[in-house]
Amino acid sequence: MSFSVQFLGTGAALPTIRRNPSAQYIECNNRHILIDCGEGTQTQLRKFQIKFQKIKIILISHLHGDHYYGLMGLLSTMSLLGRNQDIHLYAPPELKEIIDLQLKASGHHYDFPIHFYPLKEKEKVKIYEDKKIEIYAFPLNHRVATFGFVISEKEKDFRLKGEVFKMDQVSLQAIPFFRKGENFFDENKNQLIIAKKYILPPTSSKSYAYCSDNAVLESQIQYLKNVDCLYHESTFIEKHKERAEKTKHSTAKQAAYLSKQSKVKKLYLGHISSRYEGVEPFLNEAKEIFSNVCIAEDGMKITV
Ligand SMILES: [Zn+2]
Repeated sequence: MSFSVQFLGTGAALPTIRRNPSAQYIECNNRHILIDCGEGTQTQLRKFQIKFQKIKIILISHLHGDHYYGLMGLLSTMSLLGRNQDIHLYAPPELKEIIDLQLKASGHHYDFPIHFYPLKEKEKVKIYEDKKIEIYAFPLNHRVATFGFVISEKEKDFRLKGEVFKMDQVSLQAIPFFRKGENFFDENKNQLIIAKKYILPPTSSKSYAYCSDNAVLESQIQYLKNVDCLYHESTFIEKHKERAEKTKHSTAKQAAYLSKQSKVKKLYLGHISSRYEGVEPFLNEAKEIFSNVCIAEDGMKITV
């Protein structure tokens, strides 16, 4: 079971050589997800050798250009390369009109179906679920309708003690029962096999949250309770707090405060404004409140 996040773009509005606009690629239990798709995302996917035709779910947080200007290009490339697999696209409702208009104006069409799910959530709501994972969307506090996301692994199966299992020559038919922690009745031997001897508890299920862009509110603590990793914007530092308030963004300190209150385990700060030369002030300011913090960099890959 794997759960990783690769940051493709960790900059704010203006793309720079060091930081692309927002995008990240998540691989969770063999599900491939893209969150946001700023300009240049497809070249970042290529640069970091990510097989982007595997992406099935795309989540767009809001319709400021630095979060979706790369989407038309990426979809177009997917189509040119012969994609026929569906894409499930979750985004503010207006994105559907934007895509339709661009396709109409260019006389193009995609050879794969796009299932569009308009985001309108006023609280934390489950928007996707399958056997292994769940995705939630919740409202953020920004200048236009903006959404954060939590991706969670579902409760996992019990692990098998392979050697004991083999040694006792237990029937293979027991495996699905043991994985659920249930005993198995072996009809051939007319014997009830007790699972306990052969299983270990499941590994813990992990969760990852994404918040960009957002001016922190107390009411958001409940959305992020106990997530393992949080990526949160910190466009500014406290020195430019007024600018943060005006543009409805956060400072590093505010993101750290939200993480502490939510009992998040690890915080990654991103969406760094191009006005800053170094990241030390972000780290120093955040660490005063929440110690387990890192600055996200383009290309950085983390395990949740
Ligand atoms: Zn924005």
